[in-house]
Amino acid sequence: MNDLGTPVLDNHLHLDPEHGRGIEAVKDFARSGGTHLFVVNKPSWLLGVEAEKGDDFRMTFDTTVEVGARANEILPGKAWPVLGVHPGLISKLVDDRGYPPADARDLMQAGLEVANEYVAAGSAIALKSGRPHYDVADEVWNASNAVLRRALELGAETGCAVQLHTEGTDDLTDVAEWAEDAGLAPERVVKHYAGGKLSGVTPSVMSEKERLTVAVERGEPFLMETDFVDDPDRPGAVMGPKTVPRRVSWMQERGYDDGIRTAHVSTPERVYGVDTLETLSR
Ligand SMILES: [Zn+2]
Repeated sequence: MNDLGTPVLDNHLHLDPEHGRGIEAVKDFARSGGTHLFVVNKPSWLLGVEAEKGDDFRMTFDTTVEVGARANEILPGKAWPVLGVHPGLISKLVDDRGYPPADARDLMQAGLEVANEYVAAGSAIALKSGRPHYDVADEVWNASNAVLRRALELGAETGCAVQLHTEGTDDLTDVAEWAEDAGLAPERVVKHYAGGKLSGVTPSVMSEKERLTVAVERGEPFLMETDFVDDPDRPGAVMGPKTVPRRVSWMQERGYDDGIRTAHVSTPERVYGVDTLETLSR
């Protein structure tokens, strides 16, 4: 075990024990100095699920909850599941399966409501939603925003954070306003796959040196992630599970100690209400 002397949290990665590396990826993360994980369920279609009702998402959620529990046994800190419906599902439903956008919206909202049951029961810590990162028809865009807004309402109801997958942007003040309207503090909304700066909600910054430098120098709350997809068909397409610990080590060399504390202690507390110091045992 490489002890970096600080909590080291990857805010967004996937684990696929059936098709991918699963718990072996957690071991790599922990050996490199990683301590805490937010494990996000894979998109349902990548697990072979063709959902027709909200309950059909349970299989993907249960897989994530189970692998999170196994990760907990290995990590010196903790793993927390983050559950939801990937926004790209709307295109699968509309383009491939002939759903009218309104029906796709309803199904995706129903999936989020099921995910929210897991959060309310304490089996997951946050919800995951968003909108497509590629161009879509207005009807599909509007339906996607309705799904996203439902996630914000559910987050407000349950008192949990919401991770979002969105278009590439450094301005999500529209979403921040919707969060306010729903009664959810905008800082509890997280844009995953973010750059180093972002207006409106909290950025979960992809762990590239340039993006991290921007985030550190900006001095605002941020998180770090890899979006490791654990997909054997795309081994080189993404950052591996060792990336966040390696970047923390690099940040230590550069004297970015405040930035490390921000990304791994204070922002997790502010967004999710978790204490990464107290949950760390060595
Ligand atoms: Zn992801």
